[in-house]
Amino acid sequence: MGHPESAQQSALAENPVAYLQTLLDGLCDLSLQDALTGLANRRHFRSVLERELDRVSRSGEGVLLLMLDIDHFKRINDTYGHVVGDKVLQAVANTLAGCIRPMDSLARYGGEEFAVVLPACQGPFGQIVAERIRLAVANTVVQVDPRTELSVTISIGGAFALQWVRSTPSLWLDRADNQLYKAKSAGRNRVCIENQPNSTVSAEEKSLLFGALHAPSGWDQLPVNPEISDGAY
Ligand code: GH3
Ligand code: MG
Ligand code: MG
Repeated sequence: MGHPESAQQSALAENPVAYLQTLLDGLCDLSLQDALTGLANRRHFRSVLERELDRVSRSGEGVLLLMLDIDHFKRINDTYGHVVGDKVLQAVANTLAGCIRPMDSLARYGGEEFAVVLPACQGPFGQIVAERIRLAVANTVVQVDPRTELSVTISIGGAFALQWVRSTPSLWLDRADNQLYKAKSAGRNRVCIENQPNSTVSAEEKSLLFGALHAPSGWDQLPVNPEISDGAY
């Protein structure tokens, strides 16, 4: 059996460039930061989603996930080149970082896609925050050269975490992505947020469920979402 160190040494000797590239790729995978913008990367963000879902399933707190995608970004690259495209990405990242609270988490989720998690965020407040973010990006001016200023718009899709229910990052992301798709289809530069699912027991449901029975204390915190038994969120 070959010794791991000697295997590495022979790989380095055979093709040093390929070896170093493999090493760099591995380091990037381990990193939690996006190199271009300095924001959290996808890997980091997914662990934030895990943590938030765990918290929401125990506390029932309102937490909103927003997916943000720059509109027609390919045109920027095609017209001005990749370096300018990178500058625009950095400017958008800066603007987004200035829009969020210390308790929120922001990431560059993919190429020209960003994601934000907003804890302690209920119902209509989510739409207001998302609109503010959308406007802040639209009002950001990127000075490309002394004579050229650019600006871009973003589309935003949002979904609240399901309260009292354990979900997965992928399912939560899918729901926000569906809303992002709606915002794109509806013409871009807009916000679409899924209605906040009500997974707690209402007073009406309480009386239907228990009728004349005496309700045990604290029972009104119980989930009664009919899909709970499927476990599919
Ligand atoms: P839409 O409004 O539907 O989102 O259109 P779009 O052009 O923004 O979307 P599309 O997916 O067609 O293109 C995304 C582009 O983003 C293509 C890709 O080259 C560019 N891109 C991804 N990552 C980077 C990057 O790190 N730097 C630069 N400059 N461009 C990038
Ligand atoms: Mg995209
Ligand atoms: Mg795009």
